[in-house]
Amino acid sequence: MLVTTREMLLDAQENHYAVGAFNVESLEFVMAVIKAAEEQNSPVIMQTTPSTVKYAGLDYFVGLVYAAAENADVPVALHLDHGSDFDLCMNAMHAGYTSVMIDGSHDTFEDNIRKTEAVARVGASIGIPVEAELGKVGGKEDDGPDAGQGNPFTDPDEAEEFVRHTGCTSLAVGVGTAHGVYHGTPHIEQDILKAIRERVDVPLVLHGTSGVPDDQVAEAIRNGVCKVNYATELRQVYMKGFMDYMGKNPDVFDPKKPAVDGMANICAIVKSHMDNLGSTGRA
Ligand SMILES: [Zn+2]
Repeated sequence: MLVTTREMLLDAQENHYAVGAFNVESLEFVMAVIKAAEEQNSPVIMQTTPSTVKYAGLDYFVGLVYAAAENADVPVALHLDHGSDFDLCMNAMHAGYTSVMIDGSHDTFEDNIRKTEAVARVGASIGIPVEAELGKVGGKEDDGPDAGQGNPFTDPDEAEEFVRHTGCTSLAVGVGTAHGVYHGTPHIEQDILKAIRERVDVPLVLHGTSGVPDDQVAEAIRNGVCKVNYATELRQVYMKGFMDYMGKNPDVFDPKKPAVDGMANICAIVKSHMDNLGSTGRA
């Protein structure tokens, strides 16, 4: 069934687990992620970045995820990841997305507040939850701007002020994670996370989680994280399954054949994340 992320994340917050938000790139990703969610009896968020939206358009993803949700017994939300501006967020809500993110983290604190408040006001009026970001997740999200230099961590006092002024319903925080592929082991600043949690009521969101050790993620959930994003890993394991198959069967020209191995890899990794997030059995 299709739901918004609001009730999903509030249940996660109340019961101390997190819902995985998995970036989907194509029909195959949607099929693999919904299969994992059903097998684990877990709520699930499927999300798309602006570059994925640019590739195929909002309507295709609405069609794919609605079809998946309609036939599934688990709660499914469709979320716009890293919405770059007001118009894209409005287009996504209008197209049928049940959750959006407005990412003003590359702007000044004041501009981020203004940008987020505008989207959150529309979201509140039509019942669509709005995630915002304060502080910086390192690395480079998709074809978005590089996080660049400077202190990337979310300031707990600013977080309190930000949530109060904007009305965002969840908050992505900068606590040491980065988008893309890690070189070396990442380290989540759990103390900063705890300090933010003490000042902010809304569910907290962890970005850039591909490659973060499971025990660190589990600790972050104990410290208030309710939504955990995975993108890079899904792309990596899908392509590995696909390419390995083609390496062994270079004459195959039916694209469905290597896709089966790619989907099996996504399904396995999503199921394992659901177990670690504690969302297994929570549907
Ligand atoms: Zn992100």
